[in-house]
Amino acid sequence: MSAVKYVFVTGGVSSSLGKGIISASLAKLLQARGYKVTIQKLDPYINVDPGTLNPYEHGECYVTNDGAETDLDLGHYERFLNVPTSQANNVTTGRIYQTVINKEREGAFLGKTVQVIPHITDEIKRRVKLLGETGNYDIIITEIGGTVGDIESLPFIESVRQLIWEMGNSCCVIHLTLLPYLSVTGELKTKPTQHSVKTLLEYGVQPDILVCRSEKPVSAELRRKIALFCNVNVNAVIESVDASTIYDVPLHMLKEQLDKVVLNKLKLPLHHEPELTAWKAFLGKLKHPTSEVTIGLIGKYIELKDAYKSIAEAFIHAGVANECKVNIEWIHSEKIDESNVADKMKNLKAVLVAPGFGDRGIEGKISAIKYARENKIPFLGICLGMQCAVVEFARNVLGLKDAHSSEMDKGTKNAVIDIMEGQKNVSMKGGTMRLGEYPCNLNKGSKVAAAYGKAKIMERHRHRYEFNNKFLKKFEDAGMIATGINPNDNLVEIVELKSNHPWFVGVQFHPEYKSTVENPHPLFVRFVKAAMEFRKED
Ligand code: GLN
Repeated sequence: MSAVKYVFVTGGVSSSLGKGIISASLAKLLQARGYKVTIQKLDPYINVDPGTLNPYEHGECYVTNDGAETDLDLGHYERFLNVPTSQANNVTTGRIYQTVINKEREGAFLGKTVQVIPHITDEIKRRVKLLGETGNYDIIITEIGGTVGDIESLPFIESVRQLIWEMGNSCCVIHLTLLPYLSVTGELKTKPTQHSVKTLLEYGVQPDILVCRSEKPVSAELRRKIALFCNVNVNAVIESVDASTIYDVPLHMLKEQLDKVVLNKLKLPLHHEPELTAWKAFLGKLKHPTSEVTIGLIGKYIELKDAYKSIAEAFIHAGVANECKVNIEWIHSEKIDESNVADKMKNLKAVLVAPGFGDRGIEGKISAIKYARENKIPFLGICLGMQCAVVEFARNVLGLKDAHSSEMDKGTKNAVIDIMEGQKNVSMKGGTMRLGEYPCNLNKGSKVAAAYGKAKIMERHRHRYEFNNKFLKKFEDAGMIATGINPNDNLVEIVELKSNHPWFVGVQFHPEYKSTVENPHPLFVRFVKAAMEFRKED
């Protein structure tokens, strides 16, 4: 294979058109033709990473194996491609500036005025090429966050212009745009697309391919019009109509031949037709489930579903593995209390308590867990969800009425969840949690060992607090067992109820980040199965 090729994906007219899904779908098709592909996201905001962002601002923070806190689009890339991403796959304006400013302080530019062009754009270009230089990939798809015309994303677009100038045929630009539908006249309108392409042209970038998001099919005549006004081939005007599931989009793009148009532009051979047997089998099961369950997702950010993106997708994968449609009932933890918990949970076959930070809604989570424990409803607690299960057990089974996590109650004598030793002197908030992949050994005979079908696992973390081992014996004597332990520092990673409950598991890590179409996560698969088996006669 000759030099690495680069595909840039920009967006126009409106945000939220789904650049991440289009990028992931193209990557899937290229991968299915035998190419090694990865995707990179460039984010125009000034935070160094999204780790410090409230989920209401930017949805979930996705965590990679190497402990990078990243944009949730990286989750789509992994779920579609089944290949891990890393810090190099997500770069923000903040990170670019931080690198350049640190270099300036070191004296790397002595005598020079440090400027957006060339210093910032050089650093952007270096980051884009970095993934290509690892030698692991044939094609890098770089998605530029934001919308063309934003002040913030200008340096990224300028870097694309320079990279095209330097690398010519090794690059291809896809512009994702919107064709709004005017119901009054019954037409799709192309003018916003024309304007957005003109804006790109002002910056010196001619898109090669236009992917047009639209509610209705785009006619041949309209395609010819768009092609004429925007200087692209008519076969490079790609229609992207609304899909019933994001997992349909690769097949829509295949039908539109997006992969072929990209490969032709990059002067790469088509190889074979995309090998998508497993993908199509997944879609078949997704669309034709043989049963259905409703699972409660209890969290405090539920107004914005993107805050729990990976969990929702992990349920889709696990549902397919069980040929079962999982309906998520989103329940606000602030709206649950002892008086209404039975009512809130009456339709649920299982309950997942979500990750989170801070004490808003915490007592609602604890009430829900108590109810699930006592009424033997299958339960999965993730990170803060696991910590709440520990607190609930301490209060209501061990009788430690003031038990809490020291995150919520600094003064409690019974801090059954406590700050990790290594976190005690950490004052900086960004990138300082226990992050990324850590090993965990599973107890023989435990529910989790049966679910994974193995004794050693690696899972991704994002937290500062942990199970307080001072209390471990008390918990185990009373029936809550640590069935997953980090072999290096003895941290409790998993708790489960020993008996008298069909499925009650809390995990300190985030299994949802590792669930993909090809590899649905074993804990989610087993949890959905437990939901299907719950009070079958009902
Ligand atoms: N707030 C908890 C901690 O920092 C849990 C974090 C999480 O749920 N990701 O330990």
